[in-house]
Amino acid sequence: MLTCGCGRWMHTEGIEERAGESGAPEWFIRSECKGCGQKIGIDVPEGQTHGLVDRLLWTDEALHRLDRMPPYLAALVREDVEQDVRRQGRRVVTYDTLLHSRAEDRIEWESEAEWRLERVPAPVRAMARIELERTAADRGLSRVTVSLMEEVKAKYFGMGSSKQ
Ligand SMILES: [Zn+2]
Repeated sequence: MLTCGCGRWMHTEGIEERAGESGAPEWFIRSECKGCGQKIGIDVPEGQTHGLVDRLLWTDEALHRLDRMPPYLAALVREDVEQDVRRQGRRVVTYDTLLHSRAEDRIEWESEAEWRLERVPAPVRAMARIELERTAADRGLSRVTVSLMEEVKAKYFGMGSSKQ
């Protein structure tokens, strides 16, 4: 824990995922004293919080991703991801954590749907997979099908119908 010059504990306000000067991933941890309003920011190597994070927190990047999900989905993702992070004894939810949420283990993929997913641009693919599996789970389906995919694509990714 971090102590302010005024003697109070400092409260963790947020974490930003950054690349350090060497290109290695870093976390910029923002803290604030609720007593005197003093604010500080500290760069640490990714994952090495040294007690600077006082509770479970989402990085700005992970939060941004979560904010862009439909509300019902965001609630499910938040719950799952926080459960996983706590179970692993960690305190920080990163963008990467969000991409590897465990919903992937539960849902099967129709082979045609899997084939199509492989053709989704890489930066979108992981989130597309999660959103599709969440949508399937939410409807009580055990598999992702092409028709579900078309629907979700149009709704969340604005891609319209596939021309492939
Ligand atoms: Zn203070």
